[in-house]
Amino acid sequence: KQRDPHQPEFHQAVEEVVRSLWPFLEAHPHYMQAGIIERMVEPERSIIFRVPWVDDQGRVQVNRGFRIQMNSAIGPYKGGLRFHPSVNIGVLKFLAFEQVFKNSLTSLPMGGGKGGSDFNPKGKSDNEVMRFCQSFMTELYRHIGADLDVPAGDIGVGGREIGFLFGQYKRLSNQFTSVLTGKGLAYGGSLIRPEATGYGCVYFAEEMLKSSHSSFDGKRVAISGSGNVAQYAAQKVMELGGRVVSLSDSGGTLHFADGMTAEQWTYLMDLKNVRRGRLEEMGTHFGVTYLADQRPWSLPCDIALPCATQNELDGEDARALLKNGCICVAEGANMPSTLEAVDLFLEAGILYAPGKASNAGGVACSGLEMSQNAMRLHWTAGEVDTKLHGIMQSIHHACVAHGEENGRINYVKGANIAGFVKVADAMLAQGVV
Ligand code: NDP
Repeated sequence: KQRDPHQPEFHQAVEEVVRSLWPFLEAHPHYMQAGIIERMVEPERSIIFRVPWVDDQGRVQVNRGFRIQMNSAIGPYKGGLRFHPSVNIGVLKFLAFEQVFKNSLTSLPMGGGKGGSDFNPKGKSDNEVMRFCQSFMTELYRHIGADLDVPAGDIGVGGREIGFLFGQYKRLSNQFTSVLTGKGLAYGGSLIRPEATGYGCVYFAEEMLKSSHSSFDGKRVAISGSGNVAQYAAQKVMELGGRVVSLSDSGGTLHFADGMTAEQWTYLMDLKNVRRGRLEEMGTHFGVTYLADQRPWSLPCDIALPCATQNELDGEDARALLKNGCICVAEGANMPSTLEAVDLFLEAGILYAPGKASNAGGVACSGLEMSQNAMRLHWTAGEVDTKLHGIMQSIHHACVAHGEENGRINYVKGANIAGFVKVADAMLAQGVV
């Protein structure tokens, strides 16, 4: 904290991990003696660069670009790019730190990284987004590579942005390699990658529910966000017989009192991904209540899937969820719950999955995209979905194996220990580097 006082999100992520790992570290002092934690909290490399571009009015705009290469002990750096005005080095360090554990949990050989820019794609034309992406990649390309660092999407970086970034990388490097994941199907992308984080989150929650002899069938499910993760989480919930009672964006929450319908889901996909409109418009179109400036957590629900952004569910929200009888929280977003909220869930003994376990489906499927590219093969949607499902079940098993506490499973402890051990053992084997 003294070295980097202005990085609250990074401190929060480290505190959550170290707090739950502490008894394990005390019982295994060789990790402490080798300075594993001290090394894990310091990125192997942080890259910061200027991103100049020209807007549609001919004005020069300047943004800041970043890539945090956090840990490569078990594989090339891997993690998304985020384009959002709130991006700064502390936010990206928190995301990169979480990514190290998450990637380890997938059991695939991927190290951890994260990057992005404070560029805001909202309200920008396709041409402006393209010029920005080309300028961003003009610097980033020299720091990444198929066996070095493989970025993907995150908030504000979807299929459109990945396409522009990939095109510029290919042009600069004169190589067609698997340097980005989340690519379009026509140029090396994997089926099920767009669905993977949302589906994976629901598969993980399904495993937790199964362990309590329960299921999604007939349950009311509150979802926050309305972007990539939220969209496919909602689809899978409906497929499993659950009722989606909410979606949200930074302006407010849509409350589907009777549950979202398939027709409404199709409208959402067009609204957010093609027309790039706001949720409020969907409320007006279908006569669904839009609660301006409100989060979904005060709505009665059985299951909550926070799928928007960090710290979007605080202590007050957690109390409201518990009061309304919520039995399961599975995080689709990264660190959506504050430390206070996490403590309340753990104290209450409900099923609670931290994002590094429950949202690992996205990066797992990115790993599968890299495998397909390396083999110059293309798996069917069924094959990828089956592998994704299997990976989420194996992450659940790993959490159960390491998370036993007073006769129940603490998924925070389980995910942190399971993710830590593989990376720490690789670091030990590779010496002080
Ligand atoms: P998108 O950009 O597709 O969607 C983000 C959604 O979250 C939008 O509905 C957005 O609303 C909302 N949102 C963003 N910032 C805020 C904020 N400050 N307050 C309220 N709402 C906000 O991103 P993704 O769906 O890809 O990512 C969502 C979360 O999931 C992030 O935490 C991301 O790191 C995590 N994640 C994503 C993965 C992926 O594969 N995409 C993989 C693993 C984790 P608005 O449009 O109004 O900004």
